[in-house]
Amino acid sequence: YRKELRNYKIAVLPGDGVGPEVVSEAVKVLKHIGNRFHINFEFIQDLIGGAAIDQFGEALPAHTLETCKLSDAVLLGSVGGPKWDDLTGEKRPEKALLGLRKGLNLYANIRPAMMYESLKGACPLKSERISDGFDICVVRELTGGIYFGKRGTKVNTSGYDEAYDIESYSSEEVRRIGIEAFEIAMKRKKKVISVDKANVLESSRLWRKEMDILSKKYPEVSLEHMYVDNAAMQLIKSPSQFDVIVTSNMFGDILSDEASMLTGSIGMLPSASLGSTKKGLFEPIHGSAPDIAGLDIANPIATILSAAMMLRHSFGCDLEAGTIEKAVETVLNSGFRTVDIFENGKKLVGTTEMGDLIVKAI
Ligand code: ATP
Ligand code: MG
Repeated sequence: YRKELRNYKIAVLPGDGVGPEVVSEAVKVLKHIGNRFHINFEFIQDLIGGAAIDQFGEALPAHTLETCKLSDAVLLGSVGGPKWDDLTGEKRPEKALLGLRKGLNLYANIRPAMMYESLKGACPLKSERISDGFDICVVRELTGGIYFGKRGTKVNTSGYDEAYDIESYSSEEVRRIGIEAFEIAMKRKKKVISVDKANVLESSRLWRKEMDILSKKYPEVSLEHMYVDNAAMQLIKSPSQFDVIVTSNMFGDILSDEASMLTGSIGMLPSASLGSTKKGLFEPIHGSAPDIAGLDIANPIATILSAAMMLRHSFGCDLEAGTIEKAVETVLNSGFRTVDIFENGKKLVGTTEMGDLIVKAI
């Protein structure tokens, strides 16, 4: 370990539903890592989502965004729930996420999906398809493309309603998400598959061209292009061929959900949203799970692994991140399971117990 004291300020936004339960386990793990590796974490907690609506009348109060801007990274639980389902427009708890991404200029969404040997049974694919396992990292462009392009409706010359959404990317937008993907690949198996639809879309042709230019700067990383329809098929056919997938906002939306289903449990999957600075937003991919909130049964691993991603991507603490990931694997290999990943013959544990076991394994 390094002797000098490292200091990091972390904004902690527990949010709604199971959010506070899983976030407190991740904070527990981070505190333990801090002690063990001589890192000084300062946690600044604030409200977001429904919890913020109840107290301040808005899902993303200015002080919450300010707290995030003043921090080195943000750890988020989840937002929303039946209590706020009738709210519309800017008042919706989920709007806070868009506000955070925009406010922090986070344009890259990183979602790893890996198979744990001990959870093989949860994968919906036939065992021969996953005999080599898989460890995929989807890098999705988050603030451009068709979701943010010009859109509208009109009546066409034949009198029919017509609607359009424009997919547009600038070379700069493609380059910056590409750099993110190549940098991540450098720390992994050094293989990038760029997914597009360049046989049909002009924006995909620009995407492909920029990725080719970029790949010259990363001679150690191999770059392959794949059409999105083929990628969707290959993910099911042979997931082990993938390392890093880089793709546009819409293709990434779809492929990252597909990839996450391969692992079999939503309670295991972390995510990161990154921008041009080291500051990132780290959260589990699952929602607020109101059906199990308050019962101490939610799986905290997705959030704990999100904290590991924070260490790696925002603080450059690769060793410490790896230590958390290893500890999670150890606990799973010892047969401990939360309810979402439970199988007969395994030991059922709750949220806090799982957190404690991971701390102990560290
Ligand atoms: P959102 O609309 O917020 O994206 P959702 O309502 O589609 O989310 P979740 O809130 O993620 O989905 O919950 C989907 C299902 O998965 C629920 O039955 C929930 O209990 C379960 N689930 C989600 N997260 C966890 C977890 N960490 N541990 C155990 N079960 C979970
Ligand atoms: Mg939900």
